[in-house]
Amino acid sequence: MASGSVHPLPPGSTIGIMGGGQLGRMTSLAAARLGYKCHIFTPEADAPASQVAAATTIADYEDREALRRFAEAVAVVTFEFENVPAESAEYLAEHALVRPGPNCLAIAQDRLKEKEFINTVAPTTPYRRVTSADDLAKAADEIGRPAVLKTSRMGYDGKGQVLIAPDCDYAAAWAEMGGEVGILEAFVDLDREISVITARSPHGGWATYPAVENRHVNHILDTTIAPARLSRELSDKAVAIAHDLADALDLVGLLAVEMFVTRGGRILVNEMAPRPHNSGHWTMDACATSQFEQLVRAVCGLPLGSVDCHHDAVMTNLIGDDVNGWPDLLADPGARLHLYGKAEARPGRKMGHVNRLYPKGQLPGS
Ligand code: AMP
Repeated sequence: MASGSVHPLPPGSTIGIMGGGQLGRMTSLAAARLGYKCHIFTPEADAPASQVAAATTIADYEDREALRRFAEAVAVVTFEFENVPAESAEYLAEHALVRPGPNCLAIAQDRLKEKEFINTVAPTTPYRRVTSADDLAKAADEIGRPAVLKTSRMGYDGKGQVLIAPDCDYAAAWAEMGGEVGILEAFVDLDREISVITARSPHGGWATYPAVENRHVNHILDTTIAPARLSRELSDKAVAIAHDLADALDLVGLLAVEMFVTRGGRILVNEMAPRPHNSGHWTMDACATSQFEQLVRAVCGLPLGSVDCHHDAVMTNLIGDDVNGWPDLLADPGARLHLYGKAEARPGRKMGHVNRLYPKGQLPGS
């Protein structure tokens, strides 16, 4: 049932969302606006998404009985989190319409599979699979130093990454990674980091937001500038890569593609996520249709919305204690505040974000 029918699911239907974080919360809010209900599947009590959804199943992602009951209770299943076990996604697809299909998740959650897949469509930085400290030394000789060692699975926001410097102690670097299978990537001489989010419908149509520019602090997204300050040629190329990847995956839903622009003016794909993405939060206030509404439209088989952007925008994440600035942000007429309902502001935790809008072509510093 993974790809399923092309008949639209009417308003009033229930969308099942795997994962209970802020992406599920904002998807549920967008779904509610169009008259849909959301049912969240999460191992966590009081998850951000559950606070605004019609129903929640609290269970482990491997709990087959809970997965089956959930699948039977919803019209379609989607994901706000790509690290749901691929076997669970396949199991869900035996009982429900699953969009995007389990193949998209299986690729996105394994860096090695992901890199292999991406290279069938667009270039990445050179990489090697590594399974031991000796392998690591050999791979570093082949692709050069500096390089970045990454775990193959469950890596996000820079977790599970070690910089391999020219004077690296390979045994220590390997131990730091916990001896898991990983990949060694050539370090990219970055001009900037960009991303493109595209929505693809069951009919194969798509709607794509312009490329945006992302700045990270401590490997966590700090700021998105929309649109990216790039030549027309490079932004068009970035958009074309996102389309080609979504088509090659036969994806229904959203695909966010993170890319590097090198100082030499090349675009290399870093990674992709088959779900809403932090670098698309600006669309909530600056575009005719937000990324979250676009996801609802795609998975329900509705016409995709306009990606017309009435403003340029800067999105800033509120990480950890940044959230304590909410009274000032609320008092600032230029700030559009979004908070995720998380009780505890732990360091590195995404607590909310702020969008600031600018007339088109008038981003600060441009
Ligand atoms: P990732 O978890 O792969 O998205 O990596 C997190 C961040 O680390 C990226 O957004 C980049 O800022 C940086 N990074 C990752 N891989 C590389 C690379 N091969 N070369 C340079 N910077 C990198």
